Amino acid sequence: MSAYTLVIHGGAGTILKEDMPPELEAAYLQGLNDALDAGYALLEKGQSAMAAVLAATLSLEDNILFNAGKGSVFAKDGSQEMDASIMDGKTLMAGAVAGVRNIRNPVELAYSVMTKSSHVMLIGKGAEDFAALQGIRTEPDEYFVSQFRYDQWKQVQGSDEASLDHNVKLRDKKFGTVGAAACDIHGNIAAATSTGGMTNKQWGRVGDSSIIGAGTYANNKTCAISCTGHGELFIRAVTAYDVSCLMEYKGLSLQEAMNVVVHDKLMKINGEGGMIGVDAKGNAAMVFNSEGMYRGLRSNGGGNEVAIYK
Ligand code: ASP
Repeated sequence: MSAYTLVIHGGAGTILKEDMPPELEAAYLQGLNDALDAGYALLEKGQSAMAAVLAATLSLEDNILFNAGKGSVFAKDGSQEMDASIMDGKTLMAGAVAGVRNIRNPVELAYSVMTKSSHVMLIGKGAEDFAALQGIRTEPDEYFVSQFRYDQWKQVQGSDEASLDHNVKLRDKKFGTVGAAACDIHGNIAAATSTGGMTNKQWGRVGDSSIIGAGTYANNKTCAISCTGHGELFIRAVTAYDVSCLMEYKGLSLQEAMNVVVHDKLMKINGEGGMIGVDAKGNAAMVFNSEGMYRGLRSNGGGNEVAIYK
């Protein structure tokens, strides 16, 4: 029997205590606790890491506060396109979707791609047609809209600025992507990530969250990782897989490998953000180079630990 652990994130970025109304802070912490409860309950019953990351990510997608599923950010044309991926560390099976609209839970669709198709990644219309065949739940446009994300988009609408690097106009530089990584009682690990991407992105833009090896990676030999941050840089740094490589080829621990990637490699290319991860012994780590990261952790024997700021 292995130690079991669930670790989650709800995005990283310029998240400052002085800008956060107490009620909103409480709502974010509640959202993190709900997601931990949803995933941990399954681990406690002996279910798989895969089931736990799916349940935790679903819970965060359904919460309007986070930039995934309901509450996703707006692209330049006012659409809401979402990316998600999931990976099983035991089998190295993976599923991903990108640029999908109206899918209630993109992570569930990524899971279906992994389990019900012979492919790893489906995009746009093809992914939506596949979702219909699989009976995946869809919602009308209004379901995904939150006033907060709309106002955020309105600040930069009409400009060429996505909320990417050095965006001074977008004061509120947050990456609200969600994700989870877990280790189950059998020592199997899995990771999942889901996002609406970056505010005012070009429609058709795909970030790291749906890219296996960049935003998400899992391998029982090393680690399960979910990232959040400026996607273009995370793709270029192949972040999640790099953590795994540092563990496999250089013998670094999970914490050491994540520190190298987040504080050294990403920093060198101005890659703002962070990541969460577990290894197959149930060790967990949460590392970020931004002001804050919505995050939470629960291991067997312990209670929920949730935090937002540095
Ligand atoms: N990494 C995501 C993306 O680039 C954004 C985020 O983490 O919030 O699409």
